[in-house]
Amino acid sequence: MSEILVLVEQVDGEVKKVTLELLTLARGLGTPAAVWAGPGYTPDAKAKLAEYGAEKIYVAGSEEITGYVVGPKAELLAQLVAGKSAAAVLVAATAEGKEVAGRLAVKIDSGVITDAVGLGDGFVAEQSIFGGGVNVQSKVSRGTPIVAVRPNSTAPEAAAGAGAEEEVSVSLSDAAKSARIVERVKQEKGARPELTEAAIVVSGGRGVGSAENFSVIEGLADALGAAVGASRAATDAGWYPHQFQVGQTGKTVSPQLYIAAGISGAIQHRAGMQTAKTIVAINKDPEAPIFELADYGIVGDLHQVVPQLTEEVDKR
Ligand code: FAD
Repeated sequence: MSEILVLVEQVDGEVKKVTLELLTLARGLGTPAAVWAGPGYTPDAKAKLAEYGAEKIYVAGSEEITGYVVGPKAELLAQLVAGKSAAAVLVAATAEGKEVAGRLAVKIDSGVITDAVGLGDGFVAEQSIFGGGVNVQSKVSRGTPIVAVRPNSTAPEAAAGAGAEEEVSVSLSDAAKSARIVERVKQEKGARPELTEAAIVVSGGRGVGSAENFSVIEGLADALGAAVGASRAATDAGWYPHQFQVGQTGKTVSPQLYIAAGISGAIQHRAGMQTAKTIVAINKDPEAPIFELADYGIVGDLHQVVPQLTEEVDKR
């Protein structure tokens, strides 16, 4: 079977969950081959990739690959697609993954699908378009399919692969070196999971009422081990940082559980969360549009409902 290249997402050598999801998807489509781009490859990383089905692991450990903005990763993948006759390339639909996908598509003259939430036989991808208003099935009709898959859209399942390593060296063109990284500032890692990768997200909107009141949302999030999100109304008001905004102009999340508290459910907010597996809405207005989307709805004041929920979760 032909190889399906999976670009590994990792932080400090730790393989991110989305990579395990991509390997799980790749197993159903061909022979999964993980692509490690940059330094930091360890025996632990190898074990993790093999545990989730990587038959091959291409390791390009050069410092140069991570020394420039995305160009080298696209070049590495282009080289592998040509040299290994790959059947498809899967990347995470993160900001970086999507940029790599676009650049790779130009290099190898292929089509690209972004924000896929599923991928089946013949590389037919399920995709959410027009701000999430319509779901379509799409297929790349030219070249080697490149598909950027949203984190959390597939449950990762372990199934051992051989994990056979092959070192790869890549000679970078000047174009790949056009944007050099001059400094990396490590963000303080909070106790909460990363918003786009979290299995549970608790989001607050204008109904929260103030920055201080966001502690109510954070309380429930911490009880559930969840990430905190916010609507644009809340971030624009300065109640919560913009990096936590969910929606068309914010982050896209696909958690197992999304709890929306004091959020009306505007189309631009839905665009970022409607692929969540289960949606719970808490809103004092029974006519709020978010209830059309919700699997479970609680009509009530979030300042009463959310602390009660937190208390119940804490008891378990
Ligand atoms: P509102 O619409 O004001 O809703 C607040 C809700 O809280 C109401 O339903 C109310 O009944 C309820 N409520 C009030 N008090 C309580 C209480 N005590 N208990 C329970 N419920 C209560 N929005 C995003 O979220 N993300 C985006 O990325 C985004 N991008 C946009 C891009 C563009 C180009 C445009 C034009 C808009 C964008 N918006 C985005 C804004 C969007 O249109 C809405 O204005 C915004 O989502 C509304 O946020 P909200 O639901 O928190 O506020």
